Order: sequence, then structure tokens, then C-alpha cells
Amino acid sequence: MEISPSNDSCAYGQPGIFRGRLRFDNPRLADYSWPLCEIRGRKPGPRLCVSAGVHVNEVSSIEAAVRLQRMIDPETIQGSVSIIPLINQPAFYKYTELVCPIDGRNINFTFPGNRDGTFSEALCDSIMNEWCVDSDCYVDMHGGDLRENVSKFSIFQRTDDVELDALGRRMAMCFDAEIVMGLPAAHMEKSGRAPTAFARHNRLALMSEAGANGLLDEGSISFHLEGVLNIARTLGIIDAPLAPFLNARIPCDEYLWLDCPVDGEFHAEAEPGDRVTKGQRLGTISNLFGETLAEVAAPETGFLLWRMTHPTIPKGSPIGAVAVEETSVYR
Ligand SMILES: [Zn+2]
Repeated sequence: MEISPSNDSCAYGQPGIFRGRLRFDNPRLADYSWPLCEIRGRKPGPRLCVSAGVHVNEVSSIEAAVRLQRMIDPETIQGSVSIIPLINQPAFYKYTELVCPIDGRNINFTFPGNRDGTFSEALCDSIMNEWCVDSDCYVDMHGGDLRENVSKFSIFQRTDDVELDALGRRMAMCFDAEIVMGLPAAHMEKSGRAPTAFARHNRLALMSEAGANGLLDEGSISFHLEGVLNIARTLGIIDAPLAPFLNARIPCDEYLWLDCPVDGEFHAEAEPGDRVTKGQRLGTISNLFGETLAEVAAPETGFLLWRMTHPTIPKGSPIGAVAVEETSVYR
């Protein structure tokens, strides 16, 4: 990595607050630099990496990454917190939904990436193996692109490694979430989200999700912010008790996507966070004459994790997802 400080910054790697730009070594990423804030205590300790803006319209999570920079005092911490508030630089000021405009890939499902691959693949590889190389935990914050509303939830990757599994669960529980999603171990076989790719290398990464429709809202901002601060407290970077929890933090272990069965207008009958039962109608699809074309039913009993808010949805596109509650934490 090549790191250049801004005028008001301490030197990189020194105790204090570093602000500046980062360039990754991979020549495929050479046209871009990333904003970096790194807060370092005088005592060595754990390293926490935090990012947002893989999806540039998920603004509450981006705002949380900005505010986090002002909420950690280098005089009182041990170790470091490193923050990249906007990962998808090519989409900045383009408001691109979900993908990176250079290669059309969704960065969120491209981990672990590939050094010799497309821009998004190279970026995922550099996030994992340059910026996060010595991290004890990586948190990527998301939620609420232009046409979606998500419940407050956190994600970790379940693994057969008992220790890593327990650690992932404990850190995901640091968020005051409605739902704590442990992705099924079957996800480990393919490329996907950061928590999955990191777990394949016995490393820890988490995601947090909160927000709706490309809007800033204080509840979602503080969900992300307090969750990350709780992780820093749990890791021992910040010496303070955890902020209190008000939500149920229901452990779930299945993430079921709902695809739209037919082109049309989706009218939802359930909202993110709602408990739903198997077979329950979650909404209908109608045409522009108001005729009902199809009904969408819950595939299992669980919770509506998120749903699309713009009614117009083509056949085969996702309209939402259902999380299935864990039957036993020991399963
Ligand atoms: Zn996202």
C-alpha cells in the first residue's frame, strides 16, 4: 500500500489520528485512491478494520464510518482502528446501485477476489490481503440501497472451527440487531461476502445491515456506530462497558432469497423485521391493469430480513429475503 497523509494528519503508523489517501499495490487499481482514517493508541493491541460504501447509496452506513473517525480517542485506546468510509470509489458521484461500474460486478459477492481478475476482484483481494492483512476483525457496513428497506441485522459466517464460530457469533452479537445471521457453512464453498471469504482462511469478518431507500436516518447510523464501538470494546481496543441492547438479536442460520415469480408490480404485506410463518402471503404481483398475477409466500417460518420498496420488479429479480431462526445454538 502507498499511503499519503493530508495536511492535518499524524504520520502513518504513529500514535494519533492519521487521515489521508491509500493506493493499493495492484496495478489494476492504479487509477484510484481511497480515503483512509486510522486511529492508533500508544500501546500496541488489536487491529479493527471498518469499511462502508461497497454500495454507495447505503448512506447511513457511510455516515457511520465518517462519524466513527471522531469517536475514538487515540490517547485512551490500545491497538488501532482503520476506516475506509467508501470502498466503491468508481461509483462515487454516480449513485450506482449494487455494482461497481467498471466491471458490473457486485463487490459484496466477489470476495475473496483475484489478484489477476477484474477491478472488483482485484479490489476484494487487496482489501483482504493488503489493508486487512493484520486485522483481528474486519467489519463491512451496509444497508438501504435506493430501492430497498432492510431490518437491523448483523452477519457472520458459521464454520466447523468451534473457536472461530464462537468468536464470529460473539462479535455479531455486538450489534443491537433484530436478527443475527450466521450464514450456513454451505456458503464456504463459493465466492461471496467478506465474512465467508475471511472464514475460509480462519479470519474474522462481519457485516452490519441497516437503512432504507438511500436515506440518512439516525437510528440506522447509531446501529452501525454503536455496534462497531461494541466490537472495539470486546476486542479490548476501547476500555469501556458495552452499550446496552434493546433488540432481540434473534440468532438465524438460513438466508432464503425470494425471487419475483413474474414481471410486475410488487405490493408487500410484510415489513422487514416482521415474523412470518411458512406459506404466509408476503405480497402480490400485479400488472399495470391492476390484475393480480401471482402471490409471494414465505418459504419457511422466520423473519423478513429485507424487501424491495420500488414496486416494479422483473421476473427472477430478488424481492426480499427470509431469515430462519436457529433451532439450537449447538446444532
Ligand atoms: Zn449493501
